[in-house]
Amino acid sequence: MNDLGGKLVIAIDGPSGSGKSTTSIGVAARLGLRYLDTGAMYRAATCAFLEAGVDPSDSAGVIRCTVEADLQISTDPLEQWVRVNGRDVTLAIREPEISTRVSAISTLAECRENLVARQRAIIEDTGSGIVAEGRDITTVVAPDAAVRLLLTADPQIRMARRKRELGEKVDDAGIADQVLRRDRDDSKLVNFTEAADGVVELDCSYLTLEETIAAVLSLVRRLAPEFVPALGEQAHG
Ligand code: C5P
Repeated sequence: MNDLGGKLVIAIDGPSGSGKSTTSIGVAARLGLRYLDTGAMYRAATCAFLEAGVDPSDSAGVIRCTVEADLQISTDPLEQWVRVNGRDVTLAIREPEISTRVSAISTLAECRENLVARQRAIIEDTGSGIVAEGRDITTVVAPDAAVRLLLTADPQIRMARRKRELGEKVDDAGIADQVLRRDRDDSKLVNFTEAADGVVELDCSYLTLEETIAAVLSLVRRLAPEFVPALGEQAHG
């Protein structure tokens, strides 16, 4: 049992394009749990400083915008939205410019501390249990989660997945920037390339989405059997 108020917390980390979001949404929907996309919070904080006209190299300005941002995020796996300072940024945070700029937030320890505190509060406030995904959920945000998973995939496969998602919006250099360069920047302050102690690694390079979800569900049954009766038949899906 974890010390998260007896609720099921499933923590999923992984590099860009590993399929964390779609897998996490699928698992949360199957198990009737909430879902937290922590990457969306880093992206929303990026919108906040860009909107304020702060230069990414102005660390003090970036930190101030992050700390002061009114950040609201949906935890409904089937209806995702994000608002920053009252503005809906659900679509804006997916723009390539945000993916390019987001490391200005994620490489600053002060910004990470602020967002990690908000993420822990959201997880603690969730009654029914939650699937939280990102880069540091298994190690920093919720190291006590009952189920901790590192979802990986070969870089070439991750780039191909991103390319399918983004279509014509970015060329090959842009895709490499979004996947390889971002992994490099992201791993400066957080280690998500190797599974920490107690974290299960799942390589989904050659698994379909359904197979990946099924593998996570079977991990939940193995690692958190005490929650399975409460989850009912859904856990067998
Ligand atoms: O997962 P996603 O690609 O949307 O995340 C956007 C960015 O947010 C990542 O590239 C990373 O810089 C940052 N991030 C992070 N820690 C998390 C989640 C995301 O540093 N837990």
